[in-house]
Amino acid sequence: DLFTEVAGRAEAEDRRYLMEHEVKAVLEGLGISTTGSGVARSEEEAVGMAEAIGYPVVLKIASPEVVHKSDAGGVKLDLKGPEEVGRAYAEMVEAFRGKEIFGVSVQRMAPPGTEAIVGVARDPTFGPILMFGLGGIFVEILRDVSLRSIPITEADAEDMIRGIKGRPLLEGYRGRSADIPALKALLLEISDLVVRHPEIGEMDLNPVILYPEGYAVVDARIIIG
Ligand code: ADP
Ligand code: MG
Repeated sequence: DLFTEVAGRAEAEDRRYLMEHEVKAVLEGLGISTTGSGVARSEEEAVGMAEAIGYPVVLKIASPEVVHKSDAGGVKLDLKGPEEVGRAYAEMVEAFRGKEIFGVSVQRMAPPGTEAIVGVARDPTFGPILMFGLGGIFVEILRDVSLRSIPITEADAEDMIRGIKGRPLLEGYRGRSADIPALKALLLEISDLVVRHPEIGEMDLNPVILYPEGYAVVDARIIIG
């Protein structure tokens, strides 16, 4: 399958970190909605891809050496036309001179919504664990997360979603809500992927943006082993 292919390529290149575009391609193959996994290798190609996607778009550095892309200036949001895309591409390649660059990811700009995080970690005693929480202060400051051992059941997925303190933001609060059936399906799909591929050591979908209808995985990474 696609995961095996992507992981095989990484292994051949002696890397354990699967880049955003690689992980998103795997997720898309499972029917999971993302902001896109296309990578441009030239300014012309970046503009061509942006034209095909429709504006605004986002450019991100795709490098096996860059894990935290925005810290290093590797994320450019809300690019509104071919000139902005061309300039952003050139600036990005310049900013990462000296690093190994695979290319520049060109993707659609997700509209604002409720930011969530889905993660996988491996505990030496409990094995693989699935984590779900809301983004920003909810996870970072309030540690408002749900954890379950993988594999999860449909009831676990429901409990994980309804079990966080920020639950009202998902169920409907001041015009915000989330598509809970779609979110449940996402959690189950990630659990299944980890069961099929025990070589997944860590996984991080951060953020996933939630909407009243559907969601979009905006950023993704996997560590093998
Ligand atoms: P990092 O590697 O720094 O985590 P991200 O891909 O998560 O990089 O991008 C940083 C932030 O930029 C995200 O948390 C999100 O708020 C915003 N962002 C990134 N990509 C998109 C996108 N396609 N649409 C909308 N917002 C985005
Ligand atoms: Mg991120």
